[in-house]
Amino acid sequence: MASIKRNTTIAECQKFVKEIYGLNNDRYFNTEDMLTQIQRFAMRGLKGIRKKDKEKININLSVSFSWFMSLLNQLHIDIDEEVWQRFPYLCSYCATFPCSCAKKHPLKRKKTFVDENKRPKTLEGFQNMFKGLYPPERRTIEDAGIHLAEELGEFSETILFYRGMHNDKIFKDVALEAADLFSCYLTTLESAGINMAEEFSKIFKNNCNVCKKAPCECSFKEITNFKS
Ligand SMILES: [Zn+2]
Ligand SMILES: [Zn+2]
Repeated sequence: MASIKRNTTIAECQKFVKEIYGLNNDRYFNTEDMLTQIQRFAMRGLKGIRKKDKEKININLSVSFSWFMSLLNQLHIDIDEEVWQRFPYLCSYCATFPCSCAKKHPLKRKKTFVDENKRPKTLEGFQNMFKGLYPPERRTIEDAGIHLAEELGEFSETILFYRGMHNDKIFKDVALEAADLFSCYLTTLESAGINMAEEFSKIFKNNCNVCKKAPCECSFKEITNFKS
């Protein structure tokens, strides 16, 4: 039996998704299919924000995030490392902690210094880092949700561009956009008062959250008709 523990690292989380969904993904889902699934559940999560339904936000952003991990597995992007390099306890834009972009927005992205001693060990540690970096009281949950949608759009655009151009330089941008999108899942959940690692440890406590098998045996029809 495979499970995600409350003290999971980001890398363990990504590995779990590979173990449970990797086989089905390889056989049945290409990049665009997975992008559609990521978007589909993220949009349902936004509906949860509009309806002020915490459980709807939680399950949909979690499922969307799991598809996001699946796509990163297909692309062989080590998201634990990418998120840390992009956000080394500093804002990726103004290079301060907490972010000071609103006070004085820098014209250009500032260079960040990566201090390995500060690196959070767990997913929960990363959520706490983002909570300090981008304090939830500075935004509404609607703002957080819109930002998530923006970053999802940028991530999708970059992937489609990369796939169209077959260009390794653009692949680096895909990894950067993935890190930005990752941060938005965490900041949106933080705004909703949801601890991602805690909820994951409940949703993914026993293999696939729907069929309970490892690897997942959900049919395409079940995936398409999944109510959330
Ligand atoms: Zn900033
Ligand atoms: Zn399943």
